[in-house]
Amino acid sequence: MNNKGKIYVVGIGPGNMEHMSLMALKAIEKSQVVIGYKTYINLIKDLLKDKEVIDSSMKKEIERCNLTIDEAEKGRIVSIVSSGDPGIYGMAGIILELINKRKSEIDVEIVPGISAANAAAASLGSPLMHDFAVISLSNLLTDWEIIKKRIECAAAGDFIISLYNPKSKRRVNQIAESRDIILKYRKPSTPVGIVKNAKRTGEKVIITDLENMLNYEIDMFTIIIVGNSNTYIENGKMITPRGYNI
Ligand code: SAH
Repeated sequence: MNNKGKIYVVGIGPGNMEHMSLMALKAIEKSQVVIGYKTYINLIKDLLKDKEVIDSSMKKEIERCNLTIDEAEKGRIVSIVSSGDPGIYGMAGIILELINKRKSEIDVEIVPGISAANAAAASLGSPLMHDFAVISLSNLLTDWEIIKKRIECAAAGDFIISLYNPKSKRRVNQIAESRDIILKYRKPSTPVGIVKNAKRTGEKVIITDLENMLNYEIDMFTIIIVGNSNTYIENGKMITPRGYNI
């Protein structure tokens, strides 16, 4: 059944319209229906004046994605929005999995966006200039034992490490445990960037180190970037050398 409905899975970037892609803007413009978690809908509300908007709460990802497919199957053009990039802990995977499960033939286009790690890195300087790992500390869908193993491997491999979902009201210890694992392989003076609300209103950028990082506020609007063994801080910027002889 393909009746010209279409789904755009749109990454809106970190939350400031200037950091949204032209394609994301166009996809939203073309859509009759825009669906998303209300915080993200609020970030783009200026674009939504003549749209049908369906916002939903955080816990309801699968419902939200099924609703998106339902609307598209009615023949409508629908955007489902994720913050950052929709393929990084966002809606892209759920939509594709559900479409397969439902044996739907609806057309889907994934529109990439600037992820929190990219946004935070730009505010910190150039911490991601070498190989890096992206790890979510949320154990809602992944066993904490697996997450710890990944942190251990990334630390052992001297990857720069971006930590998403570092701490919530209920999950408070993961960040301290993660730091302990990383400290087995890296010096306490290893630079750490803590960015809250990267590239959106209220941005807060802190450059510290592994030893002191837990003295700062960390929450679900925060991303943490731990440098590799070569990362250094100069003139208020976190820099990971690529290896050029400068
Ligand atoms: N798809 C999103 C990630 C969703 S997971 C992306 O690509 O960025 C949600 C986590 O991402 C948050 O808990 C936080 O750790 C991080 N995050 C998302 N936007 C952020 C921002 N603007 N500043 C800092 N961290 C952010």
